[in-house]
Amino acid sequence: MDNKQQAVRENYARISYEIAQAADKSGRKPEDIAFMAVTKTVDPVYVNEAIDCGISLLGENRVQEWQSKRDAYRAGIPVDFIGALQSNKVKYLIGSIRLIHSVDRMSLAQEIDRQAAKHGIIQDILLEVNIGGEDTKSGIAPAELPALLTQVGELPNVNVKGLMTIPPPCSDTRFLEAMEELFLRTKEADPARMQILSMGMSDDYAQAIEHGSNLVRVGSALFGARDYSKQ
Ligand SMILES: *Cc1c(COP(=O)(O)O)cnc(C)c1O
Repeated sequence: MDNKQQAVRENYARISYEIAQAADKSGRKPEDIAFMAVTKTVDPVYVNEAIDCGISLLGENRVQEWQSKRDAYRAGIPVDFIGALQSNKVKYLIGSIRLIHSVDRMSLAQEIDRQAAKHGIIQDILLEVNIGGEDTKSGIAPAELPALLTQVGELPNVNVKGLMTIPPPCSDTRFLEAMEELFLRTKEADPARMQILSMGMSDDYAQAIEHGSNLVRVGSALFGARDYSKQ
């Protein structure tokens, strides 16, 4: 085992402990919170180390990178897609991806529906919300959510399981609070479809859980800083 594998082990243990504590603080059990390992730029050796530690969900950002690495991952691990997604790439995901987190427009949902129908499956998705209202980020505005939920609800091969967000970097918790409120409000009107709140990354996973998240997406805190130069 090299130093980096050892570091993944230590990081995994620390993050799991903090997730369990945050779950407890918010009246839930550790097993109610999904701990996703975000694999972008990470060599499969370290991804497999995380799986050996107990990680049971992977998150992929780029279709091509995932295709080049997937055969090197331990068999049987579920993979979610969390990156910006072009409609013409959807066909590569359907049938292999558990949950697509980044659906932010009807045209994309329609393409997922079309490809899922071809495979004879129903694809689970999340709707991505741009909770900080940032121009540079994908995701729909909170005000657009009810209309998109209604429209997507009419697609027979797509099943909305909840919401995802990437809040702006922020020293306080105002965006986490805003997202928690939006999720709870949406869940009151639509309890069957609002099961997952995908929120929280390396810098804020514990706080995100305290604000209702039940799926945290952790990259650099688990694997170390990303090295994009090798891409
Ligand atoms: C990269 C990425 C993450 C993980 O980011 P870290 O800060 O390294 O934990 C989570 N979610 C999405 C959508 C990402 O692109």
